[in-house]
Amino acid sequence: MSTRIVLATHNPHKVEEFGAIVARVRPDLEVVGYDGPEPVEDGVTFAENALIKARAAAAHTGLPALADDSGICVDALGGAPGAFSAYWAGHRKDDRANLELLLDQLSDIADPRRTAHFTSTIALVEPGGAEHVVEGIWPGRLAIAPAGAGGFGYDPIFIPDGQDAGAERTAGEFSTAEKNAASHRARAFVALAPLLAALTGD
Ligand code: IMP
Repeated sequence: MSTRIVLATHNPHKVEEFGAIVARVRPDLEVVGYDGPEPVEDGVTFAENALIKARAAAAHTGLPALADDSGICVDALGGAPGAFSAYWAGHRKDDRANLELLLDQLSDIADPRRTAHFTSTIALVEPGGAEHVVEGIWPGRLAIAPAGAGGFGYDPIFIPDGQDAGAERTAGEFSTAEKNAASHRARAFVALAPLLAALTGD
């Protein structure tokens, strides 16, 4: 019997990414989208929000449900914007305004104190009530000015760790393949794989 799993996201980019990882780990799992009621994401951590979304989808469909929440955490700001990354400059959800506000807030802070990381937290909620949360972290630091037109969100001001000195690029200058191999989401997917492999659908 094939097991179905629901993805609690309306973001087509995420549906594609999640669909690919699920297909790789568990080709027998049928991935379905979620079109039920949207819960209020009133958590203050990535895990809380990911669980809120996955629980709602599992309850509505009776299927195992996956949901993610992600954002950027800046050390000098005590981990903010964190779960508020999408709305940092207000509820209009404007990526450019968000990153400009963040750069402005950090304008007096120099390297090496501009450290930051992206976090991706994925929740898996099973119909029987079992809940799992995994996390992927992509460490780096904030640039002084945006660079690169690739990616989305804070990518143009995030310089991932591990690059050659003098040739560092922002995530906005990474190719899609480079970003997908290194990102917080890629790292969270690695942690998710064994959970998917063990999923029975009960
Ligand atoms: P959500 O997980 O869709 O709620 O996204 C939260 C916010 O975090 C996004 O709107 C982006 O601002 C930011 N974010 C999450 N992942 C990335 C990324 O890979 N690059 C740049 N910004 C990101």
